[in-house]
Amino acid sequence: MDAFEWMSPQDIEQAARAATTTVAAAMVRDSGEPAAGDALLKAGGIDLLDLMKEGLLKPRRLIHLRNIAGLDRIEGAEGGLRIGPNVTLSQLASHAEVRMRFRALAQAAGASASPQIRHLATLGGNLLQRPRCWYLRSRAHHCTRKGGDRCFAFGGENQYHAIFDHKGCAIVHPSTCATALIAFGARLEITGPRGARRAPSVEEFLLLPEADLHRENTLEPGEIVTAIVLPAPAQATRSLHIKQCETESFDWPLADVAVVLDLESGVCRKAAVVLGAAAPAPHRARAAEAALTGKRIEEPVIRVAARAALQGAAPLAKNGYKLPIFETLLRRALLAATEG
Ligand SMILES: Cc1cc2nc3c(=O)[nH]c(=O)nc-3n(C[C@H](O)[C@H](O)[C@H](O)COP(=O)(O)OP(=O)(O)OC[C@H]3O[C@@H](n4cnc5c(N)ncnc54)[C@H](O)[C@@H]3O)c2cc1C
Repeated sequence: MDAFEWMSPQDIEQAARAATTTVAAAMVRDSGEPAAGDALLKAGGIDLLDLMKEGLLKPRRLIHLRNIAGLDRIEGAEGGLRIGPNVTLSQLASHAEVRMRFRALAQAAGASASPQIRHLATLGGNLLQRPRCWYLRSRAHHCTRKGGDRCFAFGGENQYHAIFDHKGCAIVHPSTCATALIAFGARLEITGPRGARRAPSVEEFLLLPEADLHRENTLEPGEIVTAIVLPAPAQATRSLHIKQCETESFDWPLADVAVVLDLESGVCRKAAVVLGAAAPAPHRARAAEAALTGKRIEEPVIRVAARAALQGAAPLAKNGYKLPIFETLLRRALLAATEG
């Protein structure tokens, strides 16, 4: 890893002015080596330093965000919660109100990585980490996401890749927390270099390859995520997140699901069903949501919904095994959520 400068700004404006580009933009190149000289944002540094050690990034300067006051708080906001981007996954997983009212998010954070990593990894960094695709992370493969002309996964080792929405690139989105955040209808607060603010939903923020082949989200150079906002859930909301790994160990999931159900006397008024590790952005299973809405959540309805969640799936040569895993996870999640 090459030498780099360290900058520790005290406020958001200073950090935003200093960031010359985003990590995704810094990884796009004509061929060969990544360009040197960028100034990049760093939170816990787990993904960023991995990319530097792998020789995929050569920044001149890292902008350490963790000394900016106020970005590490969880506070109430209009009946919901406002979570600072520097809140760690372990803080999120153990926070009493998150566990009680946003259970699927606490479960997703608590199931990500290992205890040591969760103590350092932030929610902002988790959402913005780059995909685990081994072609993206290989210096020997100049793939479409880095400015090349092909996605090597289509004719290659695609067992961990997408089964939905993989037009042009078959990554799966790496953030387990994003699966739950989308199910809860979370929004982001983003501040730009000249103080400009915007507040996209997480669903709007995350992009499919058909919208942009080179990045997973709409973050622009100099923009900083300053909060993740969870709207107030309905009184009788039940939620659950389940992650399935290849082995019983810390790792990214083969498949994960988040369900958020607004129930009244066992009848579903509103449902959100999201599949993670299924597509380049967490996949909203709208046919499953429709199959649940207005129904009493019992075994036959659950079975229909779990099958409906796979509508439109187009598995690649080596990842068809994900279909029964998603169906089973979803049945389990719906049963467990309704049982409380
Ligand atoms: C062994 C292992 C297992 C793992 N398992 C999982 C798993 O199961 N599920 C999962 O989701 N993740 C998993 N991870 C990934 C880990 O959760 C992420 O790498 C971590 O959350 C990144 O957070 P960070 O604070 O270290 O981010 P950093 O590495 O500091 O930053 C990541 C990206 O976010 C940008 N960034 C950070 N904060 C901001 C901000 N406020 N505004 C704008 N940009 C920002 C940075 O510029 C960078 O592009 C695993 C990691 C390891 C090593």
